[in-house]
Amino acid sequence: MKNIAILGSTGSIGTSALEVIAANPSRFTVSGLAAFRNITLLKDQIECFRPEAAAVIDEETAIALEKSLDTSVRTEVLFGPHGYREVASLAGSQMVLSAMSGAAGLLPTLAAIDSGKDVALANKETIVMAGELVLARAEAAGVRILPVDSEHSALFQCLEGRPREQVLKLILTASGGPFFKKSIDDLASVTPADALKHPNWEMGSKITIDSATMMNKGLEVIEAMRLFSIGADRIDVVIHPQSIVHSMVAFNDGALLAHMGVPDMKIPIAYALSYPGRIPLFLPELDLFGMGSLSFFPPDLDKFRCLALALEAARRGGTAPVVLNASNEIAVEAFLGKRIGFLDIPRIVEDTIQTHKWEEAKTIEQIIEVDHWARDKSKELVNVL
Ligand code: MG
Repeated sequence: MKNIAILGSTGSIGTSALEVIAANPSRFTVSGLAAFRNITLLKDQIECFRPEAAAVIDEETAIALEKSLDTSVRTEVLFGPHGYREVASLAGSQMVLSAMSGAAGLLPTLAAIDSGKDVALANKETIVMAGELVLARAEAAGVRILPVDSEHSALFQCLEGRPREQVLKLILTASGGPFFKKSIDDLASVTPADALKHPNWEMGSKITIDSATMMNKGLEVIEAMRLFSIGADRIDVVIHPQSIVHSMVAFNDGALLAHMGVPDMKIPIAYALSYPGRIPLFLPELDLFGMGSLSFFPPDLDKFRCLALALEAARRGGTAPVVLNASNEIAVEAFLGKRIGFLDIPRIVEDTIQTHKWEEAKTIEQIIEVDHWARDKSKELVNVL
């Protein structure tokens, strides 16, 4: 029996993970749940899974949650950064699924690592911001970081047991998002509603916008570079609109291993939760005859400026990815709030990066400071647009 705490339980990854857990009651139990402020859903999750503790963003939300819970519930309700850290480090759990959205996932994930939990990592921002430090802490604590991002789960599986010197490059696939076929002129007028229509994957709104700008793929290059200790120059991005090949690894003998499957996040989630085993998921089989052809295209870096900026940040390393990520979060939020246009997202990110004085990333405190600086700078830039 594996006891799992879920950070970000009401989000897209969190709810899929709870489906996997609910279908496998002899394998998994839920020790803790953490959410932002969707207490309607969190209440149902608590009453169904009866975790030891649950945490929400602030005291007011915690009080409202506590009031709404069935009197038979014994779950301790916590709140704020302290509450998130408590849920991440519960003595009874062996694994933490880190699935919060954005930079907010960093500190709770570190708390999980420091308290000796294996981490199923969906929160790519943690690795983008502080990859080297986080991985060093995981190694020191003797815990595993298991990727949940579908591409990274695919790469992880293709790379398993292969000596790194045999690896030529990693090939990350991208669906291309909803705007793959649009011209750059069309992009100037797209709305949040247009950008939220992802062709293949059901995801939260932040990551769906990131897919539309292709920033998501850029963040994934940084994530892959760190998780698999490989230079950014050995990671290719290819557009693959069918989202059937989840990523590939090219080896020195010319062999290319690809990981294929239906686009359903339950597959990489279950792989991370049950690692090193596999569990049956009863999903519809991949219909090889029905799926038609698989196609691959190079990404257009002029159209998808966010991807170009992320690749540049990947090459520069240090604090560049921290600034990229923080600035992007602010720009996406502003776009979703209809305060800026779609093409303003890369503008804000680029202008923020240009005003930043690059540093080597040495400590978590420094990274958080740079993150805050970049947010403030980007907010200023949003306001003058
Ligand atoms: Mg992904």
